[in-house]
Amino acid sequence: MGLLSQGSPLSWEETRRHAEHVRRHGIIQFLHIYRALRDRHKDVLKWGDEVEYMLVKFDHENKKVRLVLCGEEVLQTLQDKGEKVNPNHPTLWRPEYGSYMIEGTPGQPYGGTMSEFNTVQDNMRKRRQEAASVLKENEAVCTVTSFPSTLTRNIRHRRGEKVVINVPIFKDKNTPSPFIEKFPNDDGEAAKAAKPDYIYMDAMGFGMGNCCLQVTFQACSIAEARYLYDQLATICPIVMALSAASPFYRGYVSDIDCRWGVISASVDDRTREERGLEPLKNNHYRISKSRYDSIDSYLSECGEKYNDIDLTIDKDIYEHLIKEGIDHLLAQHIAHLFIRDPLTLFEEKIHLDDANESDHFENIQSTNWQTMRFKPPPPNSDIGWRVEFRPMEVQLTDFENSAYVVFVVLLTRVILSYKLDFLIPLSKVDENMKVAQKRDAVRQGMFYFRKDICKGGNAVVDGCGSAQNGTGTDAEEYTLMSIDTIINGKEGVFPGLIPILNSYLENMEVDVDTRCTILNYLKLIKKRASGELMTVARWMREFIAQHPDYKQDSVITDEMNYSLIWKCNQIAQGQAECPELLGVGFNKKQSGNKTGSL
Ligand code: GLU
Ligand code: MG
Repeated sequence: MGLLSQGSPLSWEETRRHAEHVRRHGIIQFLHIYRALRDRHKDVLKWGDEVEYMLVKFDHENKKVRLVLCGEEVLQTLQDKGEKVNPNHPTLWRPEYGSYMIEGTPGQPYGGTMSEFNTVQDNMRKRRQEAASVLKENEAVCTVTSFPSTLTRNIRHRRGEKVVINVPIFKDKNTPSPFIEKFPNDDGEAAKAAKPDYIYMDAMGFGMGNCCLQVTFQACSIAEARYLYDQLATICPIVMALSAASPFYRGYVSDIDCRWGVISASVDDRTREERGLEPLKNNHYRISKSRYDSIDSYLSECGEKYNDIDLTIDKDIYEHLIKEGIDHLLAQHIAHLFIRDPLTLFEEKIHLDDANESDHFENIQSTNWQTMRFKPPPPNSDIGWRVEFRPMEVQLTDFENSAYVVFVVLLTRVILSYKLDFLIPLSKVDENMKVAQKRDAVRQGMFYFRKDICKGGNAVVDGCGSAQNGTGTDAEEYTLMSIDTIINGKEGVFPGLIPILNSYLENMEVDVDTRCTILNYLKLIKKRASGELMTVARWMREFIAQHPDYKQDSVITDEMNYSLIWKCNQIAQGQAECPELLGVGFNKKQSGNKTGSL
């Protein structure tokens, strides 16, 4: 999640005193990188995934499962046995927000050959096994929620009050109506902030304690990174809905299927002034979104005319960047990220060498948790311009996680090869984000999507196709579609992303085994999109609904939670089948060999 480095963290008051310093030097660091690397090109595709894991402990006797706060220790052991003794170790482990969380990535990035797709699942399996091997008896690696830290304290202090997260309750037959919770130890704050018919949460951990699946790609140049950033931003809500896996919060069945809005509210450190509840006095601006939210502006020239949402920027930073030769779109992007304060600062990391370090830039950048992230190369590295795709929820099995990751990486190849154009006004992407989180959005949601994605024709990375010239957007360019139509296509309406991927694959040199693996991944996505297979969220809902203890009152007891997580664990270990989630017969996997490059 960024920011989890080691050292002596400063208090919020001290951090705040250095906020201007961090911003000023962050911009200088960015300018150093930009000047040195703006013309860097011909980088090859490299990419990697990040999987966030939760550590849990089963108490079989009492039928309970608890999060275990041993992340730090587990991480230490994993690193000591892995990357610290072998620079080519196949896995890398990093800390995550909760002390019961760890994050795993492949040891080396994947490269641009098709056969790499055949190694993703093996690597994820290795990670799972490796983590499991250092756990104690009855402990396991899995997925669920929360607990606070320094970062949490600073979110609260900056905002001036506790965060308020209200998630709609799922109204089952016996759920009280209105649903109003009692908080026995409440000082009055909870009763005031909790809304009838909502599940109330008041700490960052309820949000950032959730796990996700992310993918980062290296683009061949800054222009390609900006182009992919924009194109993929429109895909975020669609893939998030397809990956929906978080229907339960604080022991209740909610009416949402995705974590996004919960995390967004959980790290919303805007003050009352910034949220527009009080006149501006001590703060500089009204800010319309949390630091964790969907992107606010497109970065490529083709995207400019679709930038239709209010963008709060730091004007001085914007002008500084323009004066230094940065173009308007990039300058406003950075000046928007830099309206935020640093959340944490380490005493040892205040005074830096701006030409060779980028910690201050990264401090602000990495606490803007948006659907997409545009990542400049780190100074003095051989890494190029990168883009991170961040909306996906983590799936139960390595098979599913591999499928989603491979789907997204293939999509980038197809976008570039066929010069596809998915752009629609950003305000419509934001509307899609709202729909995507709702219960069963995959089957019931309607999403704005571009009708003619080949219309850009010669819309290339460095310029825009003729169809996109001129100002103002044409309402006819997009329409509401179901996820099934977007992913699988519908005759006369939309070609569908999977058919486009398949036609791309037909023209690629791919060995039989890799092709088979990829086709199985695409089959999962296709069937999830059509509703033939369930999303994890839907499967979990059905599991609880059918649990003998469930009273149709939206309450998940300890024992129900225990059987759910136990089942999830068994499915992840391959010890239980789950055809309604995974299909039959196509989630088996062998390792592969050589093929052509992407
Ligand atoms: N766990 C966060 C999420 O579910 C992401 C943290 C990170 O950026 O690594 O989106
Ligand atoms: Mg992470």
